[in-house]
Amino acid sequence: EAFNANVAAAGALNAFIVATPEKAIEAAEATDAKRAKGEALGKMGGVPIGMKDLFATAGVQTTAASHILEGFTPQYESTVSQNLWNAGAGMLGKLNLDQFAMGSSNETSYFGNVISPWKRGGGDNASLAPGGSSGGSSAAVSARLCPAATGTDTGGSIRQPAAFTGITGIKPTYGRCSRWGVVAFASSLDQAGPMARDVTDCAIMLESMAGFDPKDATSLNMPVPEWEAGLNADLKGKKVGIPREYRMDGMDAEIAKSWDDGIAWLKDAGAEVVDISLPHTKYALPAYYIIAPAEASSNLARYDGVRYGLRDLPEGAGLQDMYAATRADGFGPEVKRRIMIGTYVLSAGFYDAYYNQAQKVRALIARDFEHAFTQCDVILAPTCPSAAFALGDKTSDPLSMYLNDVFAVPASLAGLPAMSVPAGLNSEGLPLGLQIIGKAFDEQGVLNAGLAIE
Ligand code: GLN
Repeated sequence: EAFNANVAAAGALNAFIVATPEKAIEAAEATDAKRAKGEALGKMGGVPIGMKDLFATAGVQTTAASHILEGFTPQYESTVSQNLWNAGAGMLGKLNLDQFAMGSSNETSYFGNVISPWKRGGGDNASLAPGGSSGGSSAAVSARLCPAATGTDTGGSIRQPAAFTGITGIKPTYGRCSRWGVVAFASSLDQAGPMARDVTDCAIMLESMAGFDPKDATSLNMPVPEWEAGLNADLKGKKVGIPREYRMDGMDAEIAKSWDDGIAWLKDAGAEVVDISLPHTKYALPAYYIIAPAEASSNLARYDGVRYGLRDLPEGAGLQDMYAATRADGFGPEVKRRIMIGTYVLSAGFYDAYYNQAQKVRALIARDFEHAFTQCDVILAPTCPSAAFALGDKTSDPLSMYLNDVFAVPASLAGLPAMSVPAGLNSEGLPLGLQIIGKAFDEQGVLNAGLAIE
């Protein structure tokens, strides 16, 4: 009943696309039965979680928040969700998101935008964006509709919504969580991770999600560390790098202040703070907005009206007409924009000028981080350049929307673990997030620095 009440409350935020409280109850009962028999409980035993509707769930509609997948019910379960069920978790429902995870505000969803549970202080009643693309996940966890949810992060989609709603989210090293059964956006960047109330819950959930999967060719064949057991907020002997290129001209004063607060907190925890340089930072955003759409345009070719979900078959139409009608009707405007950009940068005439160049920039960005990590153990920066903006604020200007990802995309391009932790409220009473970026495979270092901040 409590689950059902929460799901009804979720209606006001539009966080869920489909509710499955019976599955959460089933997991809770299975856990109770184990407890009664004195059997060991799973690491997530009985915990009801929200599942971003980008993960394929057997027998439950999986849409990526797109009309083109409406009514698609997979026969198979994604590896990450299966890992969570194996650990004893139960699914409360499928969470809303930006269509195909493309967006930073959850406003590109076919199923309507999600509303953040937060409001600005001072009488302004504007509905705020929960961030994106994991906006259903951030809103649901922030409103305490569920204790934790899955997210995916291609260029910030776990960290930015976590920052906007005062929760914690970690994108692990690329390859830690299997991409098998996750609707693909940009395969060389996509990575799943937990979004939860605090660092400890993220550590527990990430342990349950991660692991080698032979079904994903880029899966990391490494054991999953015991991150929860390794949590330690004592940073004595650790060096924290502050990248000077992130302190951009015209940086919001409140963001700069929260960054300074974070530096002070990490010093209090025993860390030494060092100045570092990531010289190619300013090219990260343009490189990302070439590489991500290029991969997306290729990944989205599979939605043809034959294999999944929607099929528009006009009277007397042939195969080509069916493809065109289905895709014209099924994809939203942002998805079409990405397909157009992606096919353009991959076209024979422009491949070298754009796609190839962006790949070179990506290598330089990865090298910047490698060099920086010879001087420090983790990097501290803001998660985003602003607190949550109002719904509708940026929808008419895609570039201003993309600019919100400026601090998130470098770690994505380099495949590094990165987390957003809450770092207090701004003068309007809205949460701000701080980002910790770690060395490849060093989720532990990231979690520990996060623990020192929270
Ligand atoms: N906001 C970025 C984009 O629209 C990142 C999205 C994501 O990480 N899935 O591409």
